[in-house]
Amino acid sequence: MTDIRMSLDVRTALGPDGVAKAGAVTLNNAICLGCEKKIHPEEPANVVVRIGGRVAHVRYAHDHCHPSAVVEIPETRSPRASAAPDEGMAMRMTAATVEHGRAALPTLIAEPEAPVYLNTGTGVGSELLDVLASHVLSRGFSPVGRMRQAPAHAGLWLATYTTPTAEDRIAQLTVMEPDGTLFYTGTIAPPPQWIAGVEQYGWSVLYVGKIGLAGIPASDQKAKMRLMREAAANGQFVGARITIHPLG
Ligand SMILES: [Zn+2]
Repeated sequence: MTDIRMSLDVRTALGPDGVAKAGAVTLNNAICLGCEKKIHPEEPANVVVRIGGRVAHVRYAHDHCHPSAVVEIPETRSPRASAAPDEGMAMRMTAATVEHGRAALPTLIAEPEAPVYLNTGTGVGSELLDVLASHVLSRGFSPVGRMRQAPAHAGLWLATYTTPTAEDRIAQLTVMEPDGTLFYTGTIAPPPQWIAGVEQYGWSVLYVGKIGLAGIPASDQKAKMRLMREAAANGQFVGARITIHPLG
């Protein structure tokens, strides 16, 4: 786990829950707020909370690039909370076949690289809500407690993927929100069962939450399942079924 450093005002702004979340991360390819270069997992990192209007982004920086601090930034033009990569929201996407009761269902797991919060008040003690979770909850996703069955279908979400080549098994995945906003575009390495599942059903389960799959070897299905069940039981998971089509 990365050595995460937080100043007193950062701790105050985040609150106990936010401090726990922001501190319990292993930074993988996180981009430094100061020099815009990667922060390696073994380097210490300072937490910077950037508050602009209603959105508070938790960012990380090299120790020599930016002190841990709360920074007010001018409000962005867009009034709505954005999860766009240019606002500091980077996501990891994992494709897997996940047991739901007796059915093994094609599943995508979106994990934010770093937490982003909604600033619901002003000044000291204002509550920061998880932006990404509240964002998708307002667009048809549901909280997930137990993974007994597939979550409800979220209408108008649409995902496409390119059929992976035989050599590298890498597919390009694009996920669009109901209003056409780009939710995710990037690569996944889907197992063959995932492809077979989405071809059969025409949908995939999509979970959003911080689970920590990055630290687990790709082949260790048991460890992945355990982490996912724990995240669901802890209320850290929201999910939906979304329509998905192969391209071309
Ligand atoms: Zn730096």
